[in-house]
Amino acid sequence: MMGRRKILALVLAIGLVVGLIAPGLRVQAVGAKLIAITFDDGPGPYTNRLLDGLKEKGVKATFFTLGQRAEIYPDEIRRIFAEGHQLCNHSYSHPELTAMSVSGALNQINTTNAILNRTIGGSEAYFLRAPYGSMNSSIRSQLSCPEIFWSVDTLDWKYRDSAYVKNTVISSAYDGAVVLMHDIHSTTVTGLLEAIDTLKSQGYEFVTVRELFRRRGVSMNNGQTYYECGPTGKDLGAAAKPTVTVEAVKGGTQVTLSTASAGAKIYYTLDGSAIDYKSKVYTGSFTVNSPCTIRAVAAYHLNGGRGQELTYQYTLPPAAKAEVDVENGTLSFSAVPEDETIFYTLDGTSPTENGVEYKEPFLIEPGTSIAFYTFGTEKIPTGVTQMYYSERGNLLADVKPSAWYFEAMDSAAEKGLLSGVGGHRFAPNSSLTRGMMVTILHRMSGEGDPEEGTNLFTDVKDGQYYAAAVEWAFQKGIASGVSETRFQPDRPVTRQEMARFMVKYYLLQTGEQELTDEGAAAERYADWEKVSDWAQSAVDTATRLGLMQGDNNGRFNPQDAATRAEGATVLCNLAELF
Ligand code: ZN
Repeated sequence: MMGRRKILALVLAIGLVVGLIAPGLRVQAVGAKLIAITFDDGPGPYTNRLLDGLKEKGVKATFFTLGQRAEIYPDEIRRIFAEGHQLCNHSYSHPELTAMSVSGALNQINTTNAILNRTIGGSEAYFLRAPYGSMNSSIRSQLSCPEIFWSVDTLDWKYRDSAYVKNTVISSAYDGAVVLMHDIHSTTVTGLLEAIDTLKSQGYEFVTVRELFRRRGVSMNNGQTYYECGPTGKDLGAAAKPTVTVEAVKGGTQVTLSTASAGAKIYYTLDGSAIDYKSKVYTGSFTVNSPCTIRAVAAYHLNGGRGQELTYQYTLPPAAKAEVDVENGTLSFSAVPEDETIFYTLDGTSPTENGVEYKEPFLIEPGTSIAFYTFGTEKIPTGVTQMYYSERGNLLADVKPSAWYFEAMDSAAEKGLLSGVGGHRFAPNSSLTRGMMVTILHRMSGEGDPEEGTNLFTDVKDGQYYAAAVEWAFQKGIASGVSETRFQPDRPVTRQEMARFMVKYYLLQTGEQELTDEGAAAERYADWEKVSDWAQSAVDTATRLGLMQGDNNGRFNPQDAATRAEGATVLCNLAELF
């Protein structure tokens, strides 16, 4: 016979077991009360006002959108996604899916997925809510997403009254509810926003549908229908806001991101742009070299599974960028502040990895690559600057030894024909202007400045670097204006103009008289008919003399602007003729 104590213990044990194995009967509340507000049939003209309110109140919701309306309101779609709500699918045009063929129904779903993905740059199968909740097993078996029903119908579409909506949401709310609403009604937006504070004071936390189930440890399967998710005795918590730590290291500042939420991925951008599917996924510390805005978010899913976003302005003062110079074979760097150091290499490797600390000027061999940067603690290190010290004794920042124009630019620089544009840069790919062109020819001739007072061009002002050269070229018949009063010195020189300038110069120097049109160029260039009449003899002569040639497709491209690299090449060819 059992004693009373034993019976009591048994009753307690049964009660305990029932409590554990029968969720829904009596489960201990863990964590916050959760509620998922869902909006169907949008976006619409009131969606932005709703999003403003949700943002202000820090509330997340779920939007079952129509593909048809997503096409009209793409900005709202992007905003729903970017602000951490869950973007979902409510078909394309709101038909009753069960009244259609299965393929027709799937087309409604897939078309909308494609529109949403195109709009936010994603590639997912969005959670589905069928219009009218109308679904059958044939369609369901083909779904690549969970199907979401609801447990509270507010009838907000029927009672267009914000007070009604507010009171209904408050009175029907319960822990784990999925609430059906429609953001295409202004009264819904107003009523819901007014209900939020009351529900918050009752301990509710507003979550997306995806988060409601994840936080309670319920995994969701494709093709399965979900109505609600009451307490399960678990709350896995929201993804925690990332934290950032920075540390100065050689070669930059090391940034480390972390989140307290196990299993959440950290997405981040460094240019201040919004987090989306193109954002980087954090895999470990990285190095930054310049001021930037780091935005980071921890997420279990970018669509409706994000935590709070971190924004971090990285703004240490920058280290001083050093200048380099070589004089009589001795290299020196300009001074930098005392707490900064210049690191350099002379073997083409990275100075941030292998750099030697600069102490004093040193001898350098021609034909050496120089790479350097400035580092300082509590400073943003400079980027790496690369130079080449050529055999001809030029320091070249933007003319690499491997470039096709290297010999020509190096040679033109050595002869003083082409001046740098500052910082040992020669801008090989920028346009050669008409002013530069005549200046180079003038320098090449070695002749002095012409008598003043004959300048006819109103757009050539005294004191400009090309003023004397334009006058010289005009007097010698090498260059003419584009009209009687205008020279257009700052306009890029076209390839056919360059041919004419060069050939005229050549004729002047050699004393030859006439331009001859022998037809060699006409046969050679596929685009010969594009060469202007006035330039045909010059292009022909320039080709015959080997001054200029066409591109790899056999075209001369007479109207194209000549680059400084092309100019240098032609000049070197010209110099070789003398
Ligand atoms: Zn609907």
